[in-house]
Amino acid sequence: MAGKGSRKPVIGSAPEGEREKERPSSGLIVSHFGVAVEVLFRDGGRRMVRVKRNSGHVVGDEVLVSGELLERLPRKSELRRRDARGGIHLVAANLDVLGIAVAPGSPPGFLDRAIVAARAAGLLPFVVFNKIDLPEARAQGLSLAAIYGGMLQFFPLSAVSGEGLDPLRAFLREGHRGAFVGTTGVGKSSLLNALCPDIDLKVGELSDNDWHGKHTTTVSSLHALPEGGELVDTPGFRDFGLVDISSSEVAAHFPGFESLQVNGCRFHNCRHRQEPGCAVVELVRKGEIAPERLETYRELLGEAEAAEEAAQRRQWKK
Ligand code: GDP
Ligand code: ZN
Repeated sequence: MAGKGSRKPVIGSAPEGEREKERPSSGLIVSHFGVAVEVLFRDGGRRMVRVKRNSGHVVGDEVLVSGELLERLPRKSELRRRDARGGIHLVAANLDVLGIAVAPGSPPGFLDRAIVAARAAGLLPFVVFNKIDLPEARAQGLSLAAIYGGMLQFFPLSAVSGEGLDPLRAFLREGHRGAFVGTTGVGKSSLLNALCPDIDLKVGELSDNDWHGKHTTTVSSLHALPEGGELVDTPGFRDFGLVDISSSEVAAHFPGFESLQVNGCRFHNCRHRQEPGCAVVELVRKGEIAPERLETYRELLGEAEAAEEAAQRRQWKK
């Protein structure tokens, strides 16, 4: 950028006001209120800064603030979601982990979908299996642990009783910044309330349709945990459509299938469909991989391919 070089501090001569303008303070957006953001500065101070409604700034953005001017620094990661109408929204920036919350009765396939989406966005996924205080949680918790426990961090817990929260706290304390995704009712609000004492989220009240700005003005906010780590509360982020994931990413990131593509299948670019010598199909046949997971995988692959073909067609029309 042309102006960058001239931003050297001027010694002695500049009037006080000028010098203020020359030296922006760096900070982090911790809350977003639609027309303003709250910035947490390195020295611990906080201030509201006005932004345009469609500024594109989100919680987690690192910014330079001078007066009312806000400059966004490059992002390390972006978490986006797709709404029911197909619109894409940026949810938060610079997260490094994504907690995928499930509970007894969660829709099958959600976990695999969310893991693929997290990995494709460059975030490390971890699994929270909530409501282990319920008797029906036991069998499902064991079977999920058997599938996912070896692949990623798996936290069986109860947001209500507090059982199992400490290992999750210890994990987040390692300097992670994350958010939870999960379908309505799995207990994300309860979990955030249990982990962040400064939040007071209503439990079991916000439905997907409620989230249109009327009831709450905060779009999302970032909370520092007492023992370390940070969590972003993302009220609009109930469900989780795949955003911009290529078919090759689906194959590369689908949990448990990624290594088979490299080591097991006859073809290194096997899509686990009709290819001869497919290790995934073989493990499903032997009962070592649940057929539903192969189905989820093929659904995801189909969606990604359909999106790619649609993009191709748009390209040709131009
Ligand atoms: P969200 O929609 O994912 O934010 O879920 P909520 O936190 O609003 O919780 C939905 C319902 O599940 C509420 O009735 C909670 O009281 C209940 N709930 C949340 N966590 C637990 C838990 O660990 N055990 C039990 N038994 N119920 C829970
Ligand atoms: Zn294969």
